[in-house]
Amino acid sequence: MGSYELICVGCGVAGQHAAARAAAAGRRVAIIERSAAPGSTLAKAGAPPSRSIRETALLLAAHRDHSIEGINMRVPAGLSIAQFVARCLQAQTNAPIRINDELEQSGADTYQGDVQFIDEHTIELARAGGRVDRLIGEHILLATGSAPHHHSGVDFSNPCIVDADEMLKLPSIPADLTVFGAGMIGCEYACILAEIGVRVRLLDPHDHLMPGLDPDLRRVLVRSMLEAGVDLQLGADLRDVEPARGGGVSVQIERGAVYHTDVLMYASGRRGATSSLNLQQIGVETDKYGYIIVDDQGRTAIPHIYAAGDVTGHPSLAGEALSQAGAAVDQMFSLTPRRVNEDLLPMCLCTIPPIAMVGMTEAQARQQNINVMVGRAGLTPCRDRRTFGDEKGFMKLIFEYPSRRLLGAAIIGAEAPEIIHIAQAVIAHDGTFDYFIDAGFNTPTFSAAYQRAALDCAMAVARREAESRAA
Ligand SMILES: Cc1cc2nc3c(=O)[nH]c(=O)nc-3n(C[C@H](O)[C@H](O)[C@H](O)COP(=O)(O)OP(=O)(O)OC[C@H]3O[C@@H](n4cnc5c(N)ncnc54)[C@H](O)[C@@H]3O)c2cc1C
Repeated sequence: MGSYELICVGCGVAGQHAAARAAAAGRRVAIIERSAAPGSTLAKAGAPPSRSIRETALLLAAHRDHSIEGINMRVPAGLSIAQFVARCLQAQTNAPIRINDELEQSGADTYQGDVQFIDEHTIELARAGGRVDRLIGEHILLATGSAPHHHSGVDFSNPCIVDADEMLKLPSIPADLTVFGAGMIGCEYACILAEIGVRVRLLDPHDHLMPGLDPDLRRVLVRSMLEAGVDLQLGADLRDVEPARGGGVSVQIERGAVYHTDVLMYASGRRGATSSLNLQQIGVETDKYGYIIVDDQGRTAIPHIYAAGDVTGHPSLAGEALSQAGAAVDQMFSLTPRRVNEDLLPMCLCTIPPIAMVGMTEAQARQQNINVMVGRAGLTPCRDRRTFGDEKGFMKLIFEYPSRRLLGAAIIGAEAPEIIHIAQAVIAHDGTFDYFIDAGFNTPTFSAAYQRAALDCAMAVARREAESRAA
């Protein structure tokens, strides 16, 4: 029976980061992963694979929209998703090797197996071949991530009904795809597959896609989706899903319409991957979606057991998983304890065009009765920097009046996930719009939009002040 100062359960973004950080601080660490290949949802089904499909889709779209006579870049019928994303599958194959190397160098012991708690400090590890080991942990970090939510009554054994994690395993690219759930994952897949000519229908029971998204950005995203041919059916819940005669699925929505589709992809929510851990037995609490309830230091109801990453629920982003895992390790070993500053965590969405936001939205600032000023700018620097298919976009900066402090930024368009970090840094250092106006920016660049948005805001402020002087 091995004994450790820290046992990390789950070798995704959060588990790896925590294990490496604690091992680097000289602690005796073990990390346990259920699957044979370590590596997170992010590497296997998340951003890199979906971004890789996205990049390939944009390349093909570029050739379609700006064709050269004699060169045919159409997607051949029957092409499998695996062929289409061959580049990303290569990256996925390499990821476990890289992660194993990194963990070995960090000095953490790695185990493969399924985990169950025996008591608050003892973990049972069911290993291949029926072997069972027990490990004792002074501290334990739960980082088992999340899994797609499977609605009761939906037959996921039907190969034409898939969840987001199974999407990459489809034997061929469907001609017609119905996506249920217009959240982050549903919107990403709808945009990407529409870009390569798949007939895409996006259904959601709510009236808006992506709750929490700035409404100005949402308008641009909706326009882009409609232009790409996505059939957007909002306010449409599913009434019935049946296997269709001759293959595919027949989908009936509450309003009565019936669609025949090759593949129905459920992208309507995830759950904490906690059901097999035996958490109730030791008093670690979860909510009704299986997400572990933690305090603002990542601690569960049992003081030496922490949780980090997607297993703690919203917003389920890799950056957040990293920050939470690092903060939990610092807290448990008193290494400059700190709280995760959620206000500075950026979000990004790999739709076409992509989206990124950081800090407060305009609506959040107004809800807090902050006197808000907004600056806007287009995001099209010049023709040679444009990525085909990513040509639209705009930036919105939210400032406080009269302090002129930057409170938040929302960007839609090429490079949004990169350039959002400029706003993140300015917010972290209490910067004002004067910074953007006074700083020199390379041109033509997407980043230069910050200067134009700040100038737009400065002009609005000047108008507002002139009006109040005149009144
Ligand atoms: C399609 C898709 C697109 C995404 N796009 C983005 C994006 O653009 N940007 C972004 O920031 N995030 C994105 N995400 C989210 C991102 O993948 C997650 O936020 C991130 O992976 C969370 O890391 P984690 O360590 O908490 O969990 P995970 O990465 O899910 O890792 C959990 C690990 O625990 C293991 N495990 C589970 N149960 C057990 C057990 N009982 N015993 C042992 N091991 C276990 C799992 O096998 C897994 O390896 C996307 C996700 C998806 C699905």
